[in-house]
Amino acid sequence: MTTLLEASSDVLFAGLTPQPPDVVLSLIKLFRDDPRPNKIDVGVGVYRDAQGRTPVFQAMKAAERRLLEIQETKAYLGPEGDFGFLERIQPIVFGDGAAASDLFSVQTPGGTGALRLAAELAQAGRPGARIWLGAPSWPIHSQIFAEAGLQIATFRQFDQASQTLCFDEMIGALRQASPGDVVLLHACCHNPSGADPDVGQWRELAGVIAGRGLVPLLDIAYQGLGDGLEPDAAGLRIVMEAVDNAMVAFSCDKNFGLYRERTGALFVRARRHHEAARTNVLKIARCAWSMPPDHGAAAVRVILEDPALTGLWREELDAQRRRLQEVREGLADADPRFEPFRNQRGLFSLLPIAPAQVDAMRRDHGVYMTGNGRINIAGLTAETIPAFAAAYAACVPN
Ligand code: PMP
Repeated sequence: MTTLLEASSDVLFAGLTPQPPDVVLSLIKLFRDDPRPNKIDVGVGVYRDAQGRTPVFQAMKAAERRLLEIQETKAYLGPEGDFGFLERIQPIVFGDGAAASDLFSVQTPGGTGALRLAAELAQAGRPGARIWLGAPSWPIHSQIFAEAGLQIATFRQFDQASQTLCFDEMIGALRQASPGDVVLLHACCHNPSGADPDVGQWRELAGVIAGRGLVPLLDIAYQGLGDGLEPDAAGLRIVMEAVDNAMVAFSCDKNFGLYRERTGALFVRARRHHEAARTNVLKIARCAWSMPPDHGAAAVRVILEDPALTGLWREELDAQRRRLQEVREGLADADPRFEPFRNQRGLFSLLPIAPAQVDAMRRDHGVYMTGNGRINIAGLTAETIPAFAAAYAACVPN
């Protein structure tokens, strides 16, 4: 006989186990609740100006005002999103040479949406395909790829103690990879280490990737915040010139300051299977979010359609890039152990620090960072660097 208990709808959810909270999001709350006036937040991964604000770009404000005036409909656009946006960001990422050939693109909800779509495309093409991921990486990478059903293989990419890129280990791992394996690479401003391959190393990576028939998945979420828009795309373009098949996840969330507007794009090259890959991407997007959120991409398009707004955007982005470099110089001058940060790029570096010392910096000095010792360079200013360096010196003996 069926009892009421046996008929409970709980069976649907009874197998779930609670998931750990996102570490960065938990850190936001801890920081907010800390009453100490001189607390320092180097945890959350957003750009901050010297006043601690994450400003809306002036160029973006102007584009949004214009959009408000000229937009006549909010009718559906379709799963590709805004074609004008896609057309205008493509040359920023790929230039107009061979790196840009044979691509198709779709607008996505941020870089995260692009990464998930890329992972789902790989999974649709080859269920359980292997993806190679350097360690450490943005922690969400492995979660996205695992959710999509891919097999994750890792190699050591950065040594936190010596602050060096483990290039030989990267190349060694990729030489062991099999044709059709995917390789995730941060195109610039590596999160969390700030350590990117140099041009010669990109050439070597491109050679191994092409030679072994691997498919690069290039994640470009910080273009313009390293050495500038063009140099930050140099490695990506070297790889794109070498391969027949590739996926590129682009985010506008940092370099246009759009974060919560969720603006990005996936670019794919599938030279011998273009139509099949393109229509599968559209189908996956249609079933996931139907079409991407419009506002951020429409505003980026308005900026890029207008030379004056484009110029203003570039100036504002460049000012952010210069500020990051100033903080890097200030850190390197404050403690010789921070010297490697001078030559690293982007929003992040990884302190040589143990988890207990990360806790001590928070508990005893009000300095908030993620447990692995990642710091957001933009969380510091010329005024706070001395206190930050003193806290580090107190918690991490030389
Ligand atoms: N890739 C990397 C390496 C990132 O750090 C981030 C953002 N933290 C993303 C992708 C995703 O960016 P978005 O906010 O556009 O989804």
